[in-house]
Amino acid sequence: MADISLTFPDGNKRAYGVGVTPADVAADISPSLAKKAISATVDGAHWDLQWPITSDAAIAIHTMQDDAQALELIRHDAAHIMARAVQEIWPDVKVTIGPVIENGWYYDFDREEPFTPEDLGAIEAKMKDIINRRDLVTTEVWERDRAIAYYEAQNEPYKVELIEAIPGSEPIRMYWHGHWQDLCRGPHFQHTGQVPADAFKLMKVAGAYWRGDSNRPQLQRIYGVAFKNRQALKDHLTFLEEAEKRDHRRLGREMSLFHFQEEAPGMVFWHPDGWTIYRALEDYMRRQLDRAGYREIKTPQVVDRKLWEASGHWDKYRENMFTTEIDEEHANEKRTNALKPMNCPCHVQVFNQGLKSYRDLPLRVAEFGSCHRYEPHGALHGLMRVRGFTQDDAHIFCTEDQIESECAKFIELLSGIYRDVGFTKFDIKFSTRPEQRVGSDEVWDKAETALERAILSVRNDFELDPGEGAFYGPKLDFKLTDAIGREWQCGTFQADFNLPERFDATYIGPDGEKHRPVMLHRAILGSFERFIGIMIENYAGKLPFWLAPRQVVVATIVSDADAYVQEAVAELRAAGLRAEADIRNEKINYKVRVHSVGKVPVILAVGAREVEDRTVTVRRLGEKQTAVRPLADVVAELQAEALPPDLVQTPSAA
Ligand SMILES: [Zn+2]
Ligand SMILES: [Zn+2]
Repeated sequence: MADISLTFPDGNKRAYGVGVTPADVAADISPSLAKKAISATVDGAHWDLQWPITSDAAIAIHTMQDDAQALELIRHDAAHIMARAVQEIWPDVKVTIGPVIENGWYYDFDREEPFTPEDLGAIEAKMKDIINRRDLVTTEVWERDRAIAYYEAQNEPYKVELIEAIPGSEPIRMYWHGHWQDLCRGPHFQHTGQVPADAFKLMKVAGAYWRGDSNRPQLQRIYGVAFKNRQALKDHLTFLEEAEKRDHRRLGREMSLFHFQEEAPGMVFWHPDGWTIYRALEDYMRRQLDRAGYREIKTPQVVDRKLWEASGHWDKYRENMFTTEIDEEHANEKRTNALKPMNCPCHVQVFNQGLKSYRDLPLRVAEFGSCHRYEPHGALHGLMRVRGFTQDDAHIFCTEDQIESECAKFIELLSGIYRDVGFTKFDIKFSTRPEQRVGSDEVWDKAETALERAILSVRNDFELDPGEGAFYGPKLDFKLTDAIGREWQCGTFQADFNLPERFDATYIGPDGEKHRPVMLHRAILGSFERFIGIMIENYAGKLPFWLAPRQVVVATIVSDADAYVQEAVAELRAAGLRAEADIRNEKINYKVRVHSVGKVPVILAVGAREVEDRTVTVRRLGEKQTAVRPLADVVAELQAEALPPDLVQTPSAA
């Protein structure tokens, strides 16, 4: 009866009868595996323990130790259990679909009345009930007509529609969680008790149209999250709370850093304090670029469509470009311009001015380039996703032989900058040649080798993403990790063999002939707007002292300290600190509270005794203790503390 051969992950093969299930296979291996098994992977497909295997295949049996499979089943079974709970409580509710999503699942229901928070509590309780009953999960493949007739009899029109959309060649698979039935591709657990009863939570209800179509019925979508154990759920909820507290849109309001309004969606109105952060970061970046041998330029924001036609953007990217029309004086035609969505084509124009020699290379041109791109309204998200932004952009024109050293220098520069602004951990993703591409294989070989060697000269790990490079060259993406473990893709480094060709950029080589330079696109922050958003969230608004928009507030405890406060503020400002007076007739505790919400790092309180002794009471943000110190000492200390990291004098080793 040895009809098919199954190959295990260790390379061993065993023979089984046609139609053997993973449950049979697990039992054949050991009773303990039979007990622990939850599903299998069969030739790359996630496979229910009950499904038959009908041909030779590679098989791996999964247990709860396999996170990916275990979590998929937990979340998917939880979706079914939730739908069953809803129909047990409200039998008239119609069910639709319920897929697994990141951290959990959702299920869409058709019900007149909205679900309330109390309803969610009742559904959760019912779900725990169903889990504790340990009802068997069973599955069958049905004929299409039988399934349709079944759902018509059940008065579940959405399920009928779903079956009608399944291609004729595909089986109609039915699942039962106890008595409750759903149409489903599977796989699932063996019984409802395998979903941890204390590790899931229903999060919220939102409206959703059937099939995402606003002409179809509006449904109610209930979201849930589920994990392997209670601690993991707790950690997730803590993470959400932490992320919510750090939301830069909320902190931006509380600290009065910026705002948005409908007249300019996705474009930032920077307030004085927000713009102070921006300027401090820009000054810092400018010093870094100057030191690293970049030349800063500025190119126009409004550029004739002819240039975008030449660059290819007009063809491929036009829907995302803001355009303007203007009657050109003395000309009988309207002129169409576009706001630049990127700086690259303008930078080639600068390179193309005058003859370039190989001695001019590598030529590094930088621009804090103001760009505009149309994003759908719904995609906009505070500073993180905007329509108007400023890239810390630069392009390096170089020879093929210079790619490696330029890339290594870039990674070094980027590492130092990330470290200075508080991100010590970042990952590199390396994307190589896609199928559709320009440039010869020889050039691609050279560029890919150069990028890989450059990474390896700095660190020994990177993530390879084969085939995901741009059509014009290989690229690196830099993802940094913030204080609560979220990843943000910020930096990028891309080799480009295409744009220099399109704009006929050349340099004269040592042989006296014209050669084509390679163009390297690179950015470190990505955009100032988004990076400031990331920093606000990373630091929960408590920015490092050198970036804090208001560094010191000097506050009176009693009103006759006003003159001394003004004097202290003048001294702090003379030392280059961003200092303010608070001489309002309010209690000091109130002032401390207000400036804490504004995330002011240092509050200096001044009463009668301080005036007398020329001291101040120093209170640091988030600290309970205070210290009475001579004003002159405090000014000197804060002045040193306010230095940006690149300007701090480190004792030389000489
Ligand atoms: Zn399912
Ligand atoms: Zn570029």
